[in-house]
Amino acid sequence: MRRISILGATGSIGQNTIDLIRRDRDAYDVVALTGARNVAQLAHDAKDLKADVAVTCHPELLDDLRDALAGSGVEAAAGDAAICEAAARPADWIMSAIVGAAGLPPGLEALKHGTTLALANKESLVTAGPLLLATAAAHGATIMPVDSEHSAVFQGLIGEDINAVERIIITASGGAFRNWPLDKLKTATLTEASTHPNWDMGQRITIDSASMFNKALELIETKEFFGVRPDQIEAVVHPESMIHALVGFNDGALMAHVGPPDMRHAIGFALHWPERKPLPVERLDLAKIGQFTFRAPDLARYPALGLAAEVMEMGGLSGAAFNAAKEQALDGFIAGQIGFLDMAEVVERVLAKMSADQGLQNAQITLDNVADTDKAARRLASDLMQEMG
Ligand code: NAD
Ligand code: MG
Repeated sequence: MRRISILGATGSIGQNTIDLIRRDRDAYDVVALTGARNVAQLAHDAKDLKADVAVTCHPELLDDLRDALAGSGVEAAAGDAAICEAAARPADWIMSAIVGAAGLPPGLEALKHGTTLALANKESLVTAGPLLLATAAAHGATIMPVDSEHSAVFQGLIGEDINAVERIIITASGGAFRNWPLDKLKTATLTEASTHPNWDMGQRITIDSASMFNKALELIETKEFFGVRPDQIEAVVHPESMIHALVGFNDGALMAHVGPPDMRHAIGFALHWPERKPLPVERLDLAKIGQFTFRAPDLARYPALGLAAEVMEMGGLSGAAFNAAKEQALDGFIAGQIGFLDMAEVVERVLAKMSADQGLQNAQITLDNVADTDKAARRLASDLMQEMG
């Protein structure tokens, strides 16, 4: 039996992972499940899957979690440190599906124990890519990409020489506002931004898809994970969300990964790698789909893409500052404090200020430095939002 843990088990990726595990439950020994506020879901899944331990990141919810698990034999724990302890429990495969920078410390902890880390938490590559890869290498751990685009690139590279790669093209749906007139974007509401045309995902990544901050994170993620130069990475708008990414080789060939917009493909691929096993995803009927379309992303509509290019050039701790400012700005938008387009403005100003003042570019990427940069960027973003609001 394979021992597995799921960090962020109650979220969209976590629940899709559990769906796959449940279909073949005798094959897995579930070690730890973690969540946040949805203690009822966490307890339900932990009991159902007979996990050893369930952990919420909120210490004030420990009693609720204990009550929900009473008599089940599943251990309850709470707090950020308990999540890291859960990630350190021996397991063969760990899903990293916490949303945001909070996913970094437990992901690193898991890698220190030589496990295979299925990485949905793109923020850990954006904030601390070199640290994550070095930790995996030092401990003989494996990182498997779970973001659909990066899983697609990974699959396009099987049996290939990375030196023969000319470019990597990441597709983008264009999000909720891809057909809106530009001047209307200013007034976009939270409800409007929280609906994705193709994918069913958590609220934060859905809003990040509308602003293309998600694509911005993914471009940086591509650079960090595959080690290619920024000028080799492109984004193209592909409204159908069926081609997830393409790899272009030095002989002009483009290898495209085609599949339905269902995260269970990328999760299942990472779960079964290096084998392929049947997965419960739709089989595409290409004749019925008829056509795939593409267009260049409009940088005026999606300023996040321009910011990603800056971060890729800067390197160092700029990804940590970018991500933290983005998370804070997103909180501000969700809370109604700032407008939709203000998010990019906040991030741009934080990046400009921090790269001028603090030499983000040359700093060493340690967990402490990342945490300090994260804190400073959030503070700056809050101050800016107060000025703007
Ligand atoms: P979600 O909001 O649905 O779920 C997030 C999970 O993290 C939940 O289990 C929640 O309890 C937990 N969590 C939230 N804050 C936490 C904290 N501070 N500490 C510990 N746990 C916390 O998010 P999601 O859509 O499942 O996305 C998870 C990650 O996967 C993100 O990094 C996202 O970018 C990435 N991703 C998601 C999708 C998708 O289809 N949803 C696709 C590709 C990549
Ligand atoms: Mg993606």
